[in-house]
Amino acid sequence: GFAAHEQMVAAARRADGPIRLASNENPYGMAPSARKAIEDGWKQHAWYGAPSLPNLKKVYADSVGVPVDHIMIVAGSSELLSIVCLAYGMKGDVLTAWPTYEGLPRYAESLGIRVHKVPLAADLTHDLDTMDRRLTQAVDLTFVCNPNNPTANVTDNAKLRSFVSNASRRSMVLVDEAYHDFVTDPSYSSLVDMVKKGENVIISRTGSKIHGLAGLRTAFVIARPDIIARLQPLSTSAPGVFGALGAAASLQDTAFQAMCKQRNVEGREIMKTAIAKMGRKMTDSQTNFVFFHAGMPVEQVQKAMLAKGFMIGRAFPPYTDWARISIGTPDEMRAVAAALPEIIGGAPK
Ligand code: PLP
Repeated sequence: GFAAHEQMVAAARRADGPIRLASNENPYGMAPSARKAIEDGWKQHAWYGAPSLPNLKKVYADSVGVPVDHIMIVAGSSELLSIVCLAYGMKGDVLTAWPTYEGLPRYAESLGIRVHKVPLAADLTHDLDTMDRRLTQAVDLTFVCNPNNPTANVTDNAKLRSFVSNASRRSMVLVDEAYHDFVTDPSYSSLVDMVKKGENVIISRTGSKIHGLAGLRTAFVIARPDIIARLQPLSTSAPGVFGALGAAASLQDTAFQAMCKQRNVEGREIMKTAIAKMGRKMTDSQTNFVFFHAGMPVEQVQKAMLAKGFMIGRAFPPYTDWARISIGTPDEMRAVAAALPEIIGGAPK
């Protein structure tokens, strides 16, 4: 079991100041096996071309069931979200739902690329009918985040597949699956099979969430070899040796991943029960964070929660009176569940 590890990280989190529930990090950090791999391989820090990187590629390719030439390792998925704009966005427009994870649209706009932001549907999932209509000839790159951040929910699997299939005939499609490992909804499935079928689809996954390696900047790209070949020269920074060592060990540590997923479900249920008890609207979280109607500017909630020792997520316009809170340990979530009603009270009038 991981009891000793859990106790150690919980104590470390308490000692580090306010409990971080603002950036959807993994409260358990890296697996003990990842830490051991890093410690055992520490001498590699002085080398260029450390063997840990090709090894990580192979381990990841095997875990997904694709040849190694379908994989690229990047310094965090943030790096991919940027270089894909350079590779596929410089001549045309970008299409995305909004709000969504802002890495790609923000980078595109900073390059002067036109970004079409389609508001989410009333249930806060992707409005695929409208996105489909906005998929004009001007669009070269389509971004889909599933499960979506900040809304935590998944978009209907069959409808998303049909949209992506159509969009991939008219543009490159990047599907950001950063939260893939936390999904429990049986109707969800990764779109990685579309890559295997040779479609214009790039899948983004990360070491920052279930593997707890956010600080080591290590992420995974799955795409057709010709797409990888176009992206690779744009990448200026591979992850460091330690990210590669840690990620390879963690990918093979399915027990640690299962523990993190299980604890996340526990914490998520505590939050869902607390939010329901306050009579607040929420989305169906399939991630390691919840998104719910606070009924007051989230800055106020942030400030009051900080006074109680918790950092929570920022506002995501236009949902400025909704709050995003990352799932910490179950104990932390019990404390959050006790603190929240004192701030936002019961159901709004
Ligand atoms: N994509 C999504 C949907 C995210 O929520 C995040 C981080 O929160 C990222 C990408 C960035 O992850 P990385 O640490 O791999 O750069």
